[in-house]
Amino acid sequence: MTWDLLLAGGEPFDVAVEGGRIAATGKGLPRTGARVVEDVGGLLVTPGLIDLHTHVGPGYWGIAPDPIAWHTGVTTWVDAGTAGAFTLDGLLRRSFDVRVVGLLNISAVGLSGRTGESRDLGNCDVALAIDTVQAHRDRIFGIKVRIDRETVGDNGVEPLRRAIAVGEACGVPVMAHVGSAPPAVDEVLDLLRPGDIVTHCASGIASPVGPAAVRAGARGVLFDLGHGSGGFAFDVLERQLDLGLRPHTISTDLHARSVYGPAFDLPTTMAKVLAAGLPLAEVIEAVTVRPAAALGLDGGTLDVGAPADLAVFAVEPGAFEVADAHLQVRTAPLRLVNVATYRKGQKLTPRLPEPPAPWIPLTGAQRAALSRRERDLRALLSQPLVGPDGLADQFPRETK
Ligand SMILES: [Zn+2]
Repeated sequence: MTWDLLLAGGEPFDVAVEGGRIAATGKGLPRTGARVVEDVGGLLVTPGLIDLHTHVGPGYWGIAPDPIAWHTGVTTWVDAGTAGAFTLDGLLRRSFDVRVVGLLNISAVGLSGRTGESRDLGNCDVALAIDTVQAHRDRIFGIKVRIDRETVGDNGVEPLRRAIAVGEACGVPVMAHVGSAPPAVDEVLDLLRPGDIVTHCASGIASPVGPAAVRAGARGVLFDLGHGSGGFAFDVLERQLDLGLRPHTISTDLHARSVYGPAFDLPTTMAKVLAAGLPLAEVIEAVTVRPAAALGLDGGTLDVGAPADLAVFAVEPGAFEVADAHLQVRTAPLRLVNVATYRKGQKLTPRLPEPPAPWIPLTGAQRAALSRRERDLRALLSQPLVGPDGLADQFPRETK
């Protein structure tokens, strides 16, 4: 018995890796059995995190995952509809250190531009989307549709009906984004099937806290956080918790306009949910086993035989101020600081952040913080880029 790697001394147990898969777990595995032994005493070992809602590309919103993955523990990035049938090649032809899978946008043009991709229903071609999913079953695990005033124009929930038709035909879930009405968020929620996903579930713009949200939760619609630049409000999450609705998965909606704040990264987003009162064990499930099950992905566990996608975190207790998309501040009781991230047993190596795309507006504070990061790469691991007042995108609340 010779393992490639042994993570020794961490919680909940030692993890041995062989051939890119988890080969053994348990307390006190023999150190002599591994070619490389990493001492992770006092640290938390989790499955590599799965971020169910990100934007990897191509187009306006896309970001490069590898320069973020190595210092956040996120080994699976689900591209949530950046690509449609016409632009999917732009995603599939790129190679990544991390695993990138996709939810195909019901609109064939995807998110090549800022928004408005479903105003022309000619782009929401059910037959084309079905053919595209069937041709890429190894990379596409669901359908994404964005339902808000800007995206659909006068088309109401018709893009969602078409997304569900594709989901039915292909046996995959639909992820629906909710935002500014019309259509009303309740109309969107009432169409979703068990196993479908509503993202931006605690949006301060859509505010899904009425009877339709309770009905959706009861029939097994999965609530996904999808923080993004405007998709998360503490007071909405707190009202949902009062109603017995909990986020099933925690995702960043990380894209070119949320990565410099207010979302920043997945561990920071997890800290916000901890600040709302959810326990750490549940928060970790919401970024590992649950998103894997939601899409039928392997991974998300420390089971023997699973891919050796692993993350090692220092758990730092304290009082950490965190802000939502509307600058409401809460205090997290702890934060997770990533120490190492492995994909198929290979440690991801440090690399500089990508420069922002030319069309991204940044404040002076954001620019200064970015240049600090280029000088001191390790600072990436320990602090948010800027505080709430340093952000360029600040979303006013919808007034009804
Ligand atoms: Zn998104």
